[in-house]
Amino acid sequence: MEKETDLLKKTMLVVDDQEINRDIMGDLFKNDFTILYAGDGEEALEILKSNPNDIDIVILDLIMPKKNVYAVLDEMNKDSELAKIAVIVVTGSEDIDSEVASLEFGATYFLTKPIKPYIAKLRVKNILEKQEINKLKTENAMLEKQHAEEQIYLSLITQSKNEYQYLVEYDQLTGIYNHHSFCNAITQEKKKNKNTDYVLIRLDIEKFKVINDIFGYDKGNEILCYIANHLKEIAGEDAIVARLEADNFGVYFKHDEKRVNKFLKDITDLINKFEIDFELVFSAGICVVKENNINADLLIDRAVLAQTTVKGNYLKRSCYYNDDMRKKILEEQEIVSQMNTALQEHQFKVFLQPKCDLATGNIIGAEALVRWMHPEKGMISPGKFIPVFEKNAFIMKLDEYIWEETCIIIRNWLDQGIKVLPISVNISRVNLYNPDLCKTIVALVKKYNIPTDLFELEITESAYTENGNKLLEVLNVFHEEKFTVLMDDFGSGYSSLNMLKNIPVDVLKIDLNFLAGTDELNRGKTIMNSIVKMSDNLEIKNIVEGVETKEQADFLISIGCAHAQGYLIYKPMPVLDFENICYKKAN
Ligand code: C2E
Ligand code: CA
Ligand code: CA
Repeated sequence: MEKETDLLKKTMLVVDDQEINRDIMGDLFKNDFTILYAGDGEEALEILKSNPNDIDIVILDLIMPKKNVYAVLDEMNKDSELAKIAVIVVTGSEDIDSEVASLEFGATYFLTKPIKPYIAKLRVKNILEKQEINKLKTENAMLEKQHAEEQIYLSLITQSKNEYQYLVEYDQLTGIYNHHSFCNAITQEKKKNKNTDYVLIRLDIEKFKVINDIFGYDKGNEILCYIANHLKEIAGEDAIVARLEADNFGVYFKHDEKRVNKFLKDITDLINKFEIDFELVFSAGICVVKENNINADLLIDRAVLAQTTVKGNYLKRSCYYNDDMRKKILEEQEIVSQMNTALQEHQFKVFLQPKCDLATGNIIGAEALVRWMHPEKGMISPGKFIPVFEKNAFIMKLDEYIWEETCIIIRNWLDQGIKVLPISVNISRVNLYNPDLCKTIVALVKKYNIPTDLFELEITESAYTENGNKLLEVLNVFHEEKFTVLMDDFGSGYSSLNMLKNIPVDVLKIDLNFLAGTDELNRGKTIMNSIVKMSDNLEIKNIVEGVETKEQADFLISIGCAHAQGYLIYKPMPVLDFENICYKKAN
């Protein structure tokens, strides 16, 4: 076997037992092919099998020793690679039957001896072209198949992408937009229509949890779907609507106050139509959107903020967000972010407001009131931060701090041999939920060795409304420990008389402010008179706070009110000032 290699050329295997025939054929094609030679069928098959992919065409003499042409063709057919190779069988002019037989065995073409070079070249060229075309066709078919498979694959991906998209964009229960896509949609909408004002309305079903509890989740879901299904109808086709979470819906459309009012009315009518033995009521927070680059979540937060102002208020169902709400929130956030440092750095100070005998003007005690001495902002009054601390329970820490500071102050006086007057401290209503409340106070007075009659406790009346039993429980413990308990802000709550009946307090601290707003001074006076009489009859002491005018003081004296606290007499003051006016003068 000889081989003339040229990588660019195709390869031809010439199989003939006659060397001269091989040479003729080799000469004929050597310029166009790399030629391999084999002397018989066996050798041909060996060469073919060791180079199955390299041989492009086989010229096979019909008459060969060892393996005949049919056997060679048969074996080539059995091999998937070899079967692809074009085969030309060279026959004598008389071998018609053999040609037919060869064809049946898979030969592609015939050449008749004597070989005519021109015809041979043409035939080989044709065969290879045809083979090339077939190859291309097969490749094409394969590519098409591959392409079709890719298309199916792509459509599957798109489909699952769509499904995924759906999961991401739509609320599973109601099928309307979810929070995420609501935010996207309203952001885009505003970008499209710059300089157009929009409104974002956040709806919330009042007591939805109760509905779930009483009627079951299925009913709750039914209500949510019912609202979702009708939301666009009511809000208008151009509105963007969504279920933001749980029982909260978001609605967004071009701002028009009439349209907002109509929407609120229609949504109320809609839920009233839902058949359920329960009063379905909405609360709505509304935020007007003027800016072009909106932060959707921030707008929703603002709507929530506005909404919280009407939550639980059955007379007012909706509220527009305004900047004061924002300021308040920012202030609250600032307070929260600084409270721990403030406590560590002793920025909270005790101020004392004297309590006096109205008739003599003598100081009979004081109330400890907290002040926040802020390093930058100066003095902050408790009205600003106590409500925030009551929300986040930091009031428990602050109360305890103030109680301890007060103990320290009293201890200091006692150590100086001063005849100490009782100081009352405030106990936040939130502290009633502190299981260690009584223990803590008892431990503090023990720690500083303070007689319990010098450390009085003020608990606001609203604690009774919130949790009367707890208040009673706490009160009993304090009484066992011989503390005096004052009922703070008496008269300002809703159930003062009930409270009196059930809770054995020691002192009523009557807030004069509860009379404010009564148009007839005389009615207020009559009520005040009755309260003082009642407390006398019940043998409960009283003190009136918030006394601001001489007239009020005179009146209080006239109805037999002995003790008072108020700006008329003394304002809350630093401990040093209190010591100066109280002990330096007295001792
Ligand atoms: P409160 O316990 O009812 O305290 C009386 C409030 O009335 C004090 O306000 C006092 O400064 C104010 N006041 C006194 N005399 C008059 C007057 O003649 N007219 C008027 N309009 N007001 C008068 P302050 O100190 O701003 O405290 C406000 C509230 O903050 C307190 O009301 C109390 O609820 C709470 N608070 C203050 N300190 C503490 C504390 O240490 N712990 C707790 N839990 N709450 C505190
Ligand atoms: Ca008080
Ligand atoms: Ca009070």
